[in-house]
Amino acid sequence: MRRERRVVMLDDFKPTWMVESLYHISPEKLKENGIDTILTDLDNTLIPWNNSIGTNKINEWIRFMKENGINVIVVSNNNPKRVGIAVEKLDIPFVAHALKPLNRGIKQTLKRFKLTPKQVVMVGDQLMTDIWAANNCHIKSIWVKPLVETDMFPTKINRFLESVVYKKLKKKYPNLNWKEDIY
Ligand SMILES: [Mg+2]
Repeated sequence: MRRERRVVMLDDFKPTWMVESLYHISPEKLKENGIDTILTDLDNTLIPWNNSIGTNKINEWIRFMKENGINVIVVSNNNPKRVGIAVEKLDIPFVAHALKPLNRGIKQTLKRFKLTPKQVVMVGDQLMTDIWAANNCHIKSIWVKPLVETDMFPTKINRFLESVVYKKLKKKYPNLNWKEDIY
């Protein structure tokens, strides 16, 4: 398999939308944008590190989404065991070892669940993994704030890079701001 080499551009990190949290996103706005499936990152996007959101609340949200015609699939870089345990009580499918920012996990997900790029959106708390991966797959993306501020060490490095990239994005796209929902 041949991999094309190309220069990384600022726009590779540009999210389609920026929303306060996954839990702010409404089914109505998703449907207005032709989206019926959320691909969500796990850690600090769907589930906080410190379990400050109970399983019940997450389940309620997933049920609300399903009732409104929106499917939720977890796409995580974490290992299958960790993701399996985290997602078990939530009764939603998952793809682990996604290798974000590479396109592998998202491509696999589209294929396995017979989804087109247009009907999905990738939601995640990191520009350097979730949003970059979405752009590598030419799908829409929503950058959300991390549910908990503390991060593991590798994420801290990404956070630093992220703050540099976000400053540049802000300069180029002054309207790119945190919103209550997509639009
Ligand atoms: Mg995350």
